[in-house]
Amino acid sequence: MHAIDVRDLVGHPGASKFESLRDTIAGLGTELASVPEDALIAGELLLESVVEGILASGRLTGTMSLRCARCLMEFTRPFDVEFSELFAPDAAEGGDEYPLEPGGALDPEQLVRDAVGLELPFSPLCTPGCLGLCARCGGDLNLDECTCTAPEPDPRWAGLESLFTDDTNPKMERTGQQIERNQ
Ligand SMILES: [Zn+2]
Ligand SMILES: [Zn+2]
Repeated sequence: MHAIDVRDLVGHPGASKFESLRDTIAGLGTELASVPEDALIAGELLLESVVEGILASGRLTGTMSLRCARCLMEFTRPFDVEFSELFAPDAAEGGDEYPLEPGGALDPEQLVRDAVGLELPFSPLCTPGCLGLCARCGGDLNLDECTCTAPEPDPRWAGLESLFTDDTNPKMERTGQQIERNQ
């Protein structure tokens, strides 16, 4: 992301200019939501000189790549985010303002990272009602891919079943061994 020359604005409160931005950014996002490093982020910036520094406002548009947190399907979604932030020569690290380089350069990268980063969903869903994957076979329940044939055990009988069923039940095995030893 290229820095913008604002020497013509610094120290001239009231002066302003428009800059368009069209660039890529690397490493923006998480495993489930990101802006790929080859995806263009476009923006229109209004740069206004104020007493405290340079006020940058405008909007950023682009496309984010998402992976559904439930069914893992990959999909894309456009974003359109507005911002208005101050670049100041005495910006404190970790503060609300972005640093303005002493040479009169304004680097918009961190602003873009922050503004677009806030738009990336923490837990993306392909559709609000996504059914996700079957916990047993991994089939996509949205596509009816579940191949499980065994019926779900009825929770009402779960307690009784453990008393009466087969030799895979560890309780029964133990009881059986004890009886043998006693004989
Ligand atoms: Zn999904
Ligand atoms: Zn299944």
